[in-house]
Amino acid sequence: MLGTILLINVKGIWLPVTKENIPVKGSKLNDSNILSDAFLFVKNGKIESFGKMSDLTDDLPLGTLENTAQMDCGGRYVLPSFVDAHSHLVFASWRENEMEMRLNGKTYLEIAESGGGILNSARRLEETTEEHLFESAWERLESLIKMGTGALEIKSGYGLSLGAELKMLRVIRRLKEESPIPIKSTFLGAHAIPSIYKDRTDYIDLIINQMIPAVSKENLADYCDVFCDKGFFTPEETELILKQGIKYGLVPKVHANELARSGGVQVGVKLGAKSVDHLECMEEEEISLLANSNVIPVLLPGTAFFLGIHPPDARRMIQNNLPVALSSDYNPGTCPSGNMEFVVSMACHMLKMKPFEAINAATINSAMAMDCGEIAGKILVGRNANLLVTKPIPSLGFLPYHFGESSIERVMLNGHWV
Ligand SMILES: [Zn+2]
Repeated sequence: MLGTILLINVKGIWLPVTKENIPVKGSKLNDSNILSDAFLFVKNGKIESFGKMSDLTDDLPLGTLENTAQMDCGGRYVLPSFVDAHSHLVFASWRENEMEMRLNGKTYLEIAESGGGILNSARRLEETTEEHLFESAWERLESLIKMGTGALEIKSGYGLSLGAELKMLRVIRRLKEESPIPIKSTFLGAHAIPSIYKDRTDYIDLIINQMIPAVSKENLADYCDVFCDKGFFTPEETELILKQGIKYGLVPKVHANELARSGGVQVGVKLGAKSVDHLECMEEEEISLLANSNVIPVLLPGTAFFLGIHPPDARRMIQNNLPVALSSDYNPGTCPSGNMEFVVSMACHMLKMKPFEAINAATINSAMAMDCGEIAGKILVGRNANLLVTKPIPSLGFLPYHFGESSIERVMLNGHWV
């Protein structure tokens, strides 16, 4: 039968701490709802039922399961697939040479100012065909799915011209159409100012007057994002761009406070952004603004790890009741990995998050940061069976603890083993 399988003797199923479509905040982020010694029945690609092994024959008469594949999950946990609400999956080539420049003492900003960084990616993307961009992104997407990502947001922002931004967004649209996992698309024309512009306002005018209307006309994006940071876009420019996005039906997101206290959080809160992402440089003002808003703070530990910058202060945000979410920032310049299991691990080792906090932040809360809480991030009856089965491990804390080697043994997507 299509996508029908019975998991038995599961050591623990990670059930959601809330069935409501809301993020988990503050001290509740460390809550868990683990059903131990359990079964989980997948039928026609969906989660049909789950319960205690002792109730298996009552809930599911064994006679009806004669033709059902079974997996004995002794010692193993079952989790929902990870949700990655921040990625730059579509790009033309890697930038490992810039890592060496950094190791030789150059900062990210210095590399960007000397024509590297985002502008380097934009140059290479300009020369790459839509077909080739799709093929390389598809390969990376398949690899992410194998590592446990079950929903993904992807940004443009390496085009930086009308034609190249539309090219990127069309690639993302095709990924959306052909991918077995849900994908959301974000227009990030305001990722950097191309060096051909002597006057930055000319490029901002292009974004506002040509790019956003064109993106909207082809219905190519769900969100509009701006890199609001030192050396990139000011809060005033960010506000202008995001307001135009809102006018054209694009929900705002902000890359904020990665390199400095940029004012990006203030703009994001003012305009009711879906999320503000990065947040390495935060003070009381930004934290209390977020605490009094519905904006999701998305932390990206891979970037701090890779660039060796000060990581975001997740503990302080959690103490202030923020619905902290985790994502990858997968991109060729500042985080060349989209491995969400490693993100969970880094969140514990670098951001001092507790294992359960990190799992909730990488599932329930990251799903909220890309408006797919109704379909991803939770194990609930009736949902698509997008699941992770761990190796036999002593406890769930072992997953972030044992970094560098995956604790995930199998990935199930829509009821099929990947
Ligand atoms: Zn990013």
